Amino acid sequence: MPSVPVSSQQKGVTVWFTGLSGAGKTTINDALTEQLRDRGLSLEILDGDIVRTNLTKGLGFSKEDRDENVRRIGFVSHLLTRNGVIVLVSAISPYRNIRDEVRNRIGNFIEVYVSAPVEVCEQRDVKGLYAKARSGEIKQFTGISDPYEAPLNPDVNCETHKETLEESVNKVIVKLEEMGYIPVPVAA
Ligand code: ADP
Repeated sequence: MPSVPVSSQQKGVTVWFTGLSGAGKTTINDALTEQLRDRGLSLEILDGDIVRTNLTKGLGFSKEDRDENVRRIGFVSHLLTRNGVIVLVSAISPYRNIRDEVRNRIGNFIEVYVSAPVEVCEQRDVKGLYAKARSGEIKQFTGISDPYEAPLNPDVNCETHKETLEESVNKVIVKLEEMGYIPVPVAA
């Protein structure tokens, strides 16, 4: 009998990483992508920084624009999720209501809170944005001059100031397995 491709065993799901700039969303997402691809699973990535250069180009950082950004990412995620794709979203997505709205619409959804304190993110300042926010060069910067509403009940909480990247990624993989979105690998 021909072997069944592993990807036919996956269920569509959106894995939504929310958290401050520099908290670790993209880093965890990249490492997770590699592991899921190694397992032969089909996925798509929607990274906030990249999405803002095409799908949501022209939107700013007011509450309305941020919500619209999330709504559009959610729309595409939904299309992919219902067709069996694992969608990995990294977006600051600071407002709880719109995150919940997207979650309810998509259904198959895992919310991952990437939760380093703002002081840690600022110290990392991966993209030099916190310095610009402090000097006033960037306005409405989440965590400095704009709000962030933390998830009240995330499916996964990655405390990147306390755990290794490997531990963070593993938490998400375990959740995907527990919820039956990806198969648990069978030991050889
Ligand atoms: P974001 O996408 O949330 O803006 P990035 O992934 O670009 O954040 O940056 C996160 C930074 O934190 C990276 O420099 C990464 O190496 C570091 N880091 C330290 N520990 C972790 C961890 N456990 N998980 C993810 N990133 C971590």
